[in-house]
Amino acid sequence: MNILVTGGAGFIGSALCRHLVNEVGAFVVNLDKLTYAGNLASLSAIAERTNYRFVHGDIGDQALVASLLYEHQIDIIMHLAAESHVDRSIDKPETFIETNVVGTFRLLDTCLTYWRGLASEKRANFRFHHVSTDEVFGDLSIGDDRFTETTPYAPSSPYSASKAASDHLVRAWARTYGLPVVLSNCSNNYGPFHFPEKLIPLTILNGLDQKPMPVYGTGANVRDWLFVEDHARALAAVAIRGQLGESYNIGGDAEQTTLEVVHAVCDLLDQRRPRMRGRSHRDLIHFVSDRPGHDRRYAIDASKIRAHLGWKPRESFKTGLSTTVDWYFTNTAWWKPLRNGTYAGERLGTLIAA
Ligand code: NAD
Repeated sequence: MNILVTGGAGFIGSALCRHLVNEVGAFVVNLDKLTYAGNLASLSAIAERTNYRFVHGDIGDQALVASLLYEHQIDIIMHLAAESHVDRSIDKPETFIETNVVGTFRLLDTCLTYWRGLASEKRANFRFHHVSTDEVFGDLSIGDDRFTETTPYAPSSPYSASKAASDHLVRAWARTYGLPVVLSNCSNNYGPFHFPEKLIPLTILNGLDQKPMPVYGTGANVRDWLFVEDHARALAAVAIRGQLGESYNIGGDAEQTTLEVVHAVCDLLDQRRPRMRGRSHRDLIHFVSDRPGHDRRYAIDASKIRAHLGWKPRESFKTGLSTTVDWYFTNTAWWKPLRNGTYAGERLGTLIAA
């Protein structure tokens, strides 16, 4: 099985490549532009494997993508390449439209031509898997039913609107042109190799550096959290065994407020750092003005993927978070270079240097 992963040098993409190469035994071509979020150090464990190839390039480069599809006789595309950080989408929406919307359009266009030209047996087995987010469903109140696969889309941020647009494009390419597609919408991921602008790594690393831990508003926003390796297993299940034309919600049944998450990280840091005895890392929590348009709650009902594909998370939020904190303690060489001014001047990033 030959799989083209886009965005495989990112947080989730690198976990997916490691899973596909090590556990599934697929041949994986990883196409990534290496934006600020792409990091080949996350792939060092598989870089020399014979069933893995990295290609530096853009999903919108149709000649390059076509050459990879034909050269490797790709069976499945797993499309993760995206601009993914909500705060960045508020500051600079344009790149989100270019990559997530126009880039996905170009990828679909290239794949359609390739798929149409395949011999019938190969053509019957081809599939395009679009990897998306629960943020496309918009804002829930406390007590509202969780998102199902039929919840109407109501995105709030430029990021979620761009992902909703790309989901719609993928469905349109299936309905209008017959392209075989599957989609998945997942909740917030966390785990090793997470770029340190995101809440959990930012909190861990600011805790290690004794710097303020920024929390938006009062920290009351609720998200569902999933360990990234559980997401990688779910993605492989959807891509390989998911029913064509279907979408699957993926989540960890682990709703937490932001403040609960930050408190849990602080408690783990307190346990691991004896020299902090007597003072809690919670003293570093620093409430900052809320993100514009900040959705109150996202919550995923993942019963469909559990029932149809037999997937369920292996990690609870407690075990996954503990593993994650330990990983940042022992993998300084991975995150140190990323903390050196890469995102100076950005809203949360400014607090790192504070
Ligand atoms: P990420 O920002 O860590 O990685 C994105 C990767 O895409 C990077 O390696 C980047 O270099 C690459 N990329 C960007 N533009 C590209 C282009 N034009 N051509 C080729 N490569 C390009 O993102 P992530 O957190 O790993 O998310 C991956 C996917 O999963 C995204 O589509 C995101 O919307 C979706 N998702 C993320 C989460 C989450 O919690 N992080 C949850 C649900 C869904």
